[in-house]
Amino acid sequence: MKKFPSFVVSALAASVALAFPVHAAGAKGGKAALPQVQEAPLRAHLAFLSSDLLEGRGTGQRGGDLTVSYLENQAMAAGLKPANGSSYRQLVKIAGIKTDAAASSLRLDVNGAALPASFGKDWVYSPGDAQPAHSINAELVFVGYGISASEEGWDDYKGHDVKGKVIVMMVNDPMPTAEAPNRFGGKALTYYGRWTYKFEEAQRKGAVGALLIHTDASASYGYSVVKNSWDGVERFQLAQGTPGTPLQGWLTNETALALFKAAGHDLDALRAAAERKDFRPVALKAKVVGDMKAEVRKVDQFNVAGVVPGTDPKLKNEVVVYTAHWDHLGKQGSSGDTIYNGAVDNASGTAALLAMAQEAVKAPAKRSQMFLWVAAEEQGLLGSAAYAEAPLWPLDKTAANLNLDSLNWIGATRDIGTAGSERTDLGKMAEAAAKGLKMVIAKEKPDLAGGYFRSDHFSFAKAGVPAFSITSGSEFLGDQARAEQMRAAYRKSYHQVSDEYDPSWSMAGMTQMAQFTLNLGRIVADAPAMPEWKAGDAFGKARAK
Ligand SMILES: [Zn+2]
Repeated sequence: MKKFPSFVVSALAASVALAFPVHAAGAKGGKAALPQVQEAPLRAHLAFLSSDLLEGRGTGQRGGDLTVSYLENQAMAAGLKPANGSSYRQLVKIAGIKTDAAASSLRLDVNGAALPASFGKDWVYSPGDAQPAHSINAELVFVGYGISASEEGWDDYKGHDVKGKVIVMMVNDPMPTAEAPNRFGGKALTYYGRWTYKFEEAQRKGAVGALLIHTDASASYGYSVVKNSWDGVERFQLAQGTPGTPLQGWLTNETALALFKAAGHDLDALRAAAERKDFRPVALKAKVVGDMKAEVRKVDQFNVAGVVPGTDPKLKNEVVVYTAHWDHLGKQGSSGDTIYNGAVDNASGTAALLAMAQEAVKAPAKRSQMFLWVAAEEQGLLGSAAYAEAPLWPLDKTAANLNLDSLNWIGATRDIGTAGSERTDLGKMAEAAAKGLKMVIAKEKPDLAGGYFRSDHFSFAKAGVPAFSITSGSEFLGDQARAEQMRAAYRKSYHQVSDEYDPSWSMAGMTQMAQFTLNLGRIVADAPAMPEWKAGDAFGKARAK
């Protein structure tokens, strides 16, 4: 493999220093050198973390335990202070859940007669509260999109009490109309459209269960994707904090059409009604009845966190949090290559955070900085969600979260991805950080698939902390055509055993992303005030509380 010309990472340019004055602490009168991320340790951490010895850093597996041990020892070696009292570890209690369809008798009941529907093919379900046994006898209520969004002036529930009911919902969010072209983000997916939101809202409303109606268009993937992650496989969820509703599941579109028809309703007409603000929930003359059984096991996982204390007597009480998920898919199967090394996803981000921490300790900023390696991202952002539920630093004193997930292994770029930063003052700060490295912010397409909701920064955003993931640029400084070829080739390795480290990789792109993230973190850490959300952003509400 040919290497791309390495990119010289410059210190913050003078123009940035003027916009956001950066004074390194400890240097009386003068300015100490700014932290410069080094390629060699980044490469070394990456090579080790993605090696077969660590067995793909699986959740609930030995490789994951070894990773945690490595990270806490490296955090100590770098000189980070433990973030959890005297410990670098934060316990994350996880439950592994597998529905036992054969032992379950759950059925969809219309006027006392069971609708023919078999588990897997026609619908799937699982206990959202990680309990092994449930007896359910609850009425079904159709709640449209199941959205309560005050800033959009939208409420599908309209005060309808769904306590003790099983709600049935569409996924995605209301489509833009001629009169309201920008409602719910226009064509982009808002968090109200994600199935995770639907389940969370069902829990807040006190429902016993929540069933989502699958269509290819609304989910942006086929039913087989749902089936593959619900039927006969172990699903992981948090076994701490707020439990979900006892029943969670999906219906195929065909099953939903048959159910509504049997109950005397036209689903398509109801779906059309649900596109309107004046939609009201519709109680179906139908029930979910029977026993749901599941195998449940508890697994203790750990986030790892260390701190570089700030130097300003007041601002040191506030913190900038850098995150990267340490987990990947671990060891699976029994023949051939069984190790999902996850070199790019996310040994790269994990290694980058270590390399950043090693430099950050040498020149602390005014605010404190936390380096946080989170567990179980691949299982649904579980480690970061657990952190947000029990933060090691108060969230209202957390200035920002900058997340790294899957770094650029190809070579240095002219641009850098900062999608989501525009929601907060971090957007302007990111521009300054890019300028300081003679880079530009990558142009973004509308976020149709909801990328902002799919990595660990989102657990912070949901809790009101300005947050986003720094992503690779796409204008390479080397041979662009070759770079694009390499990128396309990696797409075939995404979440496959072939996501492996290659010693011929240039570290220039990764180093650049790590440097950008550290420089941006420093701008945030030294700024007079913490960044704020843009007015009207859905996630700013949590900050205001
Ligand atoms: Zn990842």
